[in-house]
Amino acid sequence: MSFDQPITECPVCQHTLRQPTSRQVFGPENGKWPGFHFDCPHCGLFIVDEIELHRLFGYLNPPNAPGVVATPLQLKRHRSVLAHALRRMEATGETPILKDGNFIWP
Ligand SMILES: [Zn+2]
Repeated sequence: MSFDQPITECPVCQHTLRQPTSRQVFGPENGKWPGFHFDCPHCGLFIVDEIELHRLFGYLNPPNAPGVVATPLQLKRHRSVLAHALRRMEATGETPILKDGNFIWP
């Protein structure tokens, strides 16, 4: 999957974003990483590292390969749990960052 076009849909809950988002560079001078800043009406504001975004799509979408690992209901539940976690973290006043397989705070 390539993210060269602006993303218009939340990767977590699939709502239309308040603003389409494109690749940006985050991090300090000696540790820059590409990522995306999402503004979702349902999940709130959050940042996802580009590598992590690929993982997220893999985790939240049915596999194309044979041998289904999650049912549609399970995938829906994954989405709800993640959206809830994002909203709770954002409620603390900091924008959650999803990177290196985990949530980090600035
Ligand atoms: Zn969302």
